[in-house]
Amino acid sequence: MKFSINSKCPCGSGEKYKNCCGIFHKGSNPKNALSLMKSRYSAYVVGDVNYIIKTTHPDNKEYKTDLVEWKRDIKSFSDETDFVRLEVFDFIDGEEEAYVTFRVNMKLDGTYTFFTEKSRFLKVDGRWLYIDGEFINN
Ligand SMILES: [Zn+2]
Repeated sequence: MKFSINSKCPCGSGEKYKNCCGIFHKGSNPKNALSLMKSRYSAYVVGDVNYIIKTTHPDNKEYKTDLVEWKRDIKSFSDETDFVRLEVFDFIDGEEEAYVTFRVNMKLDGTYTFFTEKSRFLKVDGRWLYIDGEFINN
């Protein structure tokens, strides 16, 4: 998917991508797990596979040592999904562990669908990483 850095950020902030999640994709460190979660969503939308991998905790069950295969999986999910909107319902902040509950609205094969997830994040060496999540009432 072609994405302009001057477009509105996919995370829904209302800011331009280049002034929002684009900053994190270029290397800045999100200050909390909520910003990290939004920037991971945006990374799926813009197809920044490396950012998804970089922000996944090594203990995550999806974490694959076969990077080629993992990158292909992320890329195909990113390409095949028409992301519509991100909704954030809850954010529980903490020193080293945080939770974000959110809904991803999307189109798959032209049909509207969504999933709701409560994600858990851990802070490692000053950086928030996605560790795991559970689906809620889907
Ligand atoms: Zn953003």
